[in-house]
Amino acid sequence: MQKIQNTALPADQTQNGFFGQDILSVDQFDRQGLAYIFHVAEEMRSMVERFGSADLLQGKILANLFYEPSTRTSSSFIAAMERLGGKVIPIHGVQYSSVSKGESLPDTVRTLETYADVIVLRHPDVGSAALAAHYAKKPVINAGDGIGEHPTQALLDLFTIKEELGTIDGLRVAMVGDLKYGRTVHSLTKLLKLYNVTLEFVSPPMLRIPNNICLELKHVGIPYRELENIHDVIKDVDILYVTRVQKERFSDLVAYEKVKNYYIVDPALMSQAKGKMAIMHPLPRVGEISYAVDEDPRAAYFRQMKNGMYIRMALLAAVLGKA
Ligand code: ASP
Repeated sequence: MQKIQNTALPADQTQNGFFGQDILSVDQFDRQGLAYIFHVAEEMRSMVERFGSADLLQGKILANLFYEPSTRTSSSFIAAMERLGGKVIPIHGVQYSSVSKGESLPDTVRTLETYADVIVLRHPDVGSAALAAHYAKKPVINAGDGIGEHPTQALLDLFTIKEELGTIDGLRVAMVGDLKYGRTVHSLTKLLKLYNVTLEFVSPPMLRIPNNICLELKHVGIPYRELENIHDVIKDVDILYVTRVQKERFSDLVAYEKVKNYYIVDPALMSQAKGKMAIMHPLPRVGEISYAVDEDPRAAYFRQMKNGMYIRMALLAAVLGKA
């Protein structure tokens, strides 16, 4: 639906290309847009480090609507809004809202936008954020739509790659684990194709990267390989992006049991990796990275999740015309 824009704001705060926009897919971003969000995220980080909070979004309200479990995405959006002086309506778990009475997603978002200025939505159905955005006049931010996309995670992942390695161009990135159902892999791969990278997709045969994503890579000429053995890539990668096997997406739990412990990153494996590289994970981990790896300076997953708050602060400020 045509989005409402607050024209009372000075023009320069609304010229960022994101003001009043939905954030539904990483396809909306080009390198320039990414550089802008990363720059604002850096500013947010220095602001938080120096002052803790600001009043940039004072008077603004975020409706945080989660139909699927979440720890980091949900709480970092809340922290992001509150550190910028805004307030949050948290709706966590359908059992506490009228959705349990059978209310539709369109009616739910049309209700929430009468109270809030921006809606963050996580939902199990692919395309749910786009559906919500179709009905909402206020910006909708996709916080994960089933096995589809997770654009805000991909932004923080890419930001982390840049922070850890100092560059994105020229890197060899391995994605490991559940590449079929892992929405973070889908979104991050789509963003990486804007850069000069080489991709290694390491998965069990039943969890291969979807074909449509491979076609997109071929179309833009990004070199990639599909492999099963992590030992074939470990020595050469700059980024090892490890993912959880997404149990909740399996209809056949016997199949899940067969693949759940397919890859385990442990100190023995890491002893073969480059000295300068980063291990990332969108989290939660359920065994695919051993705790013994946490002390390794290359383990970037805790820094990665911290970056999530700065990226989400940047996005909220950008869509609300205050970046
Ligand atoms: N937290 C991420 C997501 O929501 C990754 C995961 O759940 O495995 O997609």
